[in-house]
Amino acid sequence: MRILVTGGAGYVGSHAVRALLRQGHEVWVYDNLSRGHRRAVPEELLIFGDISDTRHLAAVMRDRQIEAVMHFAAYALVGESVADPALYYVNNLAAGISLLEAMRQSDVSKIVFSSTTATYGIPETVPIPEQAPQRPINPYGFTKYCFERMLDDYARAYGWAAAALRYFNAAGAAADGSLGEDHDPETHLIPLALQVALGRRDELVIFGDDYPTQDGTCVRDYVHVEDLAEAHLAALERLQPRQVWKLNLGIGVGYSVRQVIEACRHVTGHPIPTRIGPRRPGDPPVLVADSRLAREMLGWTPRYQKIEDIVATAWAFHRRFPRGYEDR
Ligand code: UDP
Repeated sequence: MRILVTGGAGYVGSHAVRALLRQGHEVWVYDNLSRGHRRAVPEELLIFGDISDTRHLAAVMRDRQIEAVMHFAAYALVGESVADPALYYVNNLAAGISLLEAMRQSDVSKIVFSSTTATYGIPETVPIPEQAPQRPINPYGFTKYCFERMLDDYARAYGWAAAALRYFNAAGAAADGSLGEDHDPETHLIPLALQVALGRRDELVIFGDDYPTQDGTCVRDYVHVEDLAEAHLAALERLQPRQVWKLNLGIGVGYSVRQVIEACRHVTGHPIPTRIGPRRPGDPPVLVADSRLAREMLGWTPRYQKIEDIVATAWAFHRRFPRGYEDR
């Protein structure tokens, strides 16, 4: 298939691009490089542009005879979305509508969309099934939730095929360290811990140790970025017109913050000093996926099950790019 990947220079997008190419698809990356990295995609595939530019986007889709879109282009920081919601409504929602409009104008009717656990808000049951109520508690989660709802309506009205894949905690990197996670500022647990191991930071702050969990720290479901990419590929290949799939992507096993840090110590051989800080607002104690539906619908089995193995790949990237891709 001929696929347009929006945000293909970003963390999950760049791994999806690689998986698509490996599978023999024709791929174009549409990215404004506001948060993505030029070095994360093959140069000849990159089309520089903003998804809010409907005319340009529609022209690209027509010229390249695009058959499906994988949509990763979005901002994805909860705290930032609370501090500056306009950024999220403009970039994730308004620009998202522009993307859907460009697809309509160029007769592209298949989309795989990166959604998130943040659409659930604070879950009542864990592991979280897809039918759990979606009550996002921050603008980031709300914009992703709205986009999911729009996909329902577009599929019904225009016969589109759409998959919204709700990631739990994307983690890890390409095993050879050639692609990985590089955010500025970095806010995520594993890259921060590895930056301590690299000597770029003195310590890691644990956001709260008084949660009702086994060791008092938050529990998350860390899913390897290459496994996420494989799920996207499977969704693309299996989706049929008028189908809308909403699927959780997680391994179904939770690790506490302390367990993740311990894995980072084990993998790097560095003591990684920590300090207990206050809770981070909006952090639910436990987020673990019930991902049986994705396994069934996509024939998906995440290859990475152990946190040490996931951290080892992230460490390979951090050692290869100790200061990130450095192309900003
Ligand atoms: N976390 C932490 N210290 C940090 C960064 C994160 O204790 O410096 C915790 C955070 O509270 C959460 C978990 O690590 O419980 C994963 O956070 P991350 O930001 O990586 O992903 P999120 O769960 O927000 O998607």
